[in-house]
Amino acid sequence: MDKPDAPARVVWHTTESGDGDAAFKSVAEYLIKIGAEPHILYDPTTDRIGQFGPLNESARALKNDGSTRTNRVGRACIQIEVLARASNPFTAYWKPGPNFKALMESIRSWGVPDVFPMGTPAKTSTDCKRDRNKWLTTGGHYGHCNAPGNDHWDPGAIDTAALFAAVSKAPTAPSSGTTYKVKAGDSLSAIGRATGVPWETVASLNGLKPPYLLFPGQELKLKASTAAPAPKPAAKVPPFPGTQYFKAGADNGYVKQLGEALVRKGFGRYYSVGPGPRWSESDRKAVEAFQKAQGWTGASADGYPGPETWARLMK
Ligand SMILES: [Zn+2]
Repeated sequence: MDKPDAPARVVWHTTESGDGDAAFKSVAEYLIKIGAEPHILYDPTTDRIGQFGPLNESARALKNDGSTRTNRVGRACIQIEVLARASNPFTAYWKPGPNFKALMESIRSWGVPDVFPMGTPAKTSTDCKRDRNKWLTTGGHYGHCNAPGNDHWDPGAIDTAALFAAVSKAPTAPSSGTTYKVKAGDSLSAIGRATGVPWETVASLNGLKPPYLLFPGQELKLKASTAAPAPKPAAKVPPFPGTQYFKAGADNGYVKQLGEALVRKGFGRYYSVGPGPRWSESDRKAVEAFQKAQGWTGASADGYPGPETWARLMK
């Protein structure tokens, strides 16, 4: 792909032919002969499906749009040729079966959303919407009639809701998950397909290196955290002002601050009146009790605060 950073998409075509097994065979041979293979050939009347190549490599059913190789836009650009005619939309008479469901599940596994960004495909050759910017930037389903630089108007005005209704409920948007829990037997590439996040991205987000060992229950990040790291809880410890503020005769705001911290830590019983700015024996006793509660003894538990006592009290 030329533009693998653009979201994955699907392009619907019709072969402008009849259906049935004979048509299936001759159309497949013709597409190979002219070098215009899609990824998928599908018969809406028999549910028969054929695949020409891997979905993560480009198909060849679109014309270039100037220098843009339209077939190569997106992480995947999955092209489906339906054995039908644009003038007779196939969803009016089709019989989707297990192969169609498997196809849609495969498409969803590439992270293609169940939407037609340019609306229902054209009813006629003259009402094609070809929005180049949308084509280049938006994931989802398109008709050949929506591809910029192209002149075909297939697949006709198919019932887009019927395509999605033919398959059970859409999975949760793969890109909305931020983690993935590894299941037994998972491989990185299977996880990539299931989540719509390229396996190389999963590997690098999680620091995985060859041989990429995984274990069941392992949580893998699917997104780099773009949010700023949560601010540290306001654990701002004011700096220790100095021993000179905590001695007989001292009368200052730090003493009060110290006393209030002692009360918060459960040493309020040493105060007969509330802590105040004047250094007192109540302060000294409370500090001593706090220091002993830290497991300190001797000079470390003399009732006079130093930087460590202060830091622990202010936390
Ligand atoms: Zn086409």
